[in-house]
Amino acid sequence: MISTAKWTVAAWVLAVCLPIGVARAAKPPRPNVVIIFADDLGYGDLSCYGHPTINTPHLDRMAHEGQRWTEFYVAASMCTPSRAGLMTGRLPVRNGMCSLRQHVLYPDSAGGLPQSEITLAETLKDAGYATACIGKWHLGHRSEFLPMKQGFDEFYGLPYSNDMKNRRVPPKKPGGKASHEYIGVPLMRGEKTLEQPVDQTTLTQRYTKEAIRFIEKNRKRPFFLYLAQTMPHVPLFRSKEFVDHSRRGLYGDVVEEVDESVGQVLDTLRRLKLDKHTLVVFTSDNGPWLVYRQRGGSAGLLRGGKGSTWEGGMREPAIFWWPGTIKPEVVRQMGSTLDLLPTIAKLCGAEVPLDRVIDGLDLTPVLTGTGPSPRDTMFYYRGNQLCAVRHGPYKMYYFTQPNYRNRKGIKHDPPLLYNLDHDPSEQHDVAKQHPEVIEQIREIAEAHQKGVTPVPSQLEIR
Ligand code: MG
Repeated sequence: MISTAKWTVAAWVLAVCLPIGVARAAKPPRPNVVIIFADDLGYGDLSCYGHPTINTPHLDRMAHEGQRWTEFYVAASMCTPSRAGLMTGRLPVRNGMCSLRQHVLYPDSAGGLPQSEITLAETLKDAGYATACIGKWHLGHRSEFLPMKQGFDEFYGLPYSNDMKNRRVPPKKPGGKASHEYIGVPLMRGEKTLEQPVDQTTLTQRYTKEAIRFIEKNRKRPFFLYLAQTMPHVPLFRSKEFVDHSRRGLYGDVVEEVDESVGQVLDTLRRLKLDKHTLVVFTSDNGPWLVYRQRGGSAGLLRGGKGSTWEGGMREPAIFWWPGTIKPEVVRQMGSTLDLLPTIAKLCGAEVPLDRVIDGLDLTPVLTGTGPSPRDTMFYYRGNQLCAVRHGPYKMYYFTQPNYRNRKGIKHDPPLLYNLDHDPSEQHDVAKQHPEVIEQIREIAEAHQKGVTPVPSQLEIR
């Protein structure tokens, strides 16, 4: 009798507990994903990346609780191709979202990210995620290219940059300065225009409110929020509360308001007890817009800025936050926005498209502290021109950009070579001392170029 009772208990324990255990092993909890993408914020513009007079306490805390990466790259140093790289995990040269003649999409462009591309939003939507794009899109503003045709359930924001469709206003007094009015920038919800021109002073606040609403609405199911801030892209605007907020002046005010927005998003996740179930990534689409002088940001000790393939154009602040899963540390390894699609797909049980080349690599070993970054090489394109290749600490240049407006750049034959570990500011060409490194990187570049099939540019379609 006793033994039968024991067996009954054992069978009950097995019957009740085992399926739970098996279910747990087969289906780990899937994190929510929030990507906060600043616009034109430089490597040196946050206090946790060394800025002396811009104060970003929320991003600093996020970095302290998560991983702060020092060698994180975007896919291109301009808005449109950079965003295309993040969304698809593919270099923009593979899907026509780049051009040497024209850097980005304009209001009179008829092209956009092709429907044949599979976006991160589509990947996650297929895996059962609620998806929202809040903020700047800039991957095509015609109906067939808008976010809701690319895997997003919701869109609230600007279809392109906040400086587009402007009107030059002549100087008020003789000898005075001309100014610009941003008469045509629309704020959209879905495919409808809500406001045109949009009041840009409250844009950061309104994006934040929308982001919080989306998180609250989807608190009980997995969600993906792509919060692409319009700021600190010139023209700079901030709300009344942030006027004269920063010692850095107008640009600092704007960055500090973006920081406040990040704080509100993270506080919402904490309040709803979703912080341990949400991966938040903060980065920027390209380096600082240096031609705007004090209205543009800073790449810190890195050379160059927006539009160039110098480090300052493509190396960005990047913070990964997921309390309890991501081990807090400074990561001095390479990663890229190209890697977000495969990494997030892996974490969320979503599928990486297998029928095409994906340039991104899976960074989960670094995030979970189980291994090194698989990325040891980065390709730097300007338009469809391969300008430089980094492999390990060495970066080799075929072309450099002497200034923002120069499209073709200066060709280097033999190529230039910099050791980014010794010389992060790219000041000292060491090509002559390392012919063997030049040879090795040339081979990597040639093999890469053989695997790229040129496609017509989407950016030049009118
Ligand atoms: Mg940008």
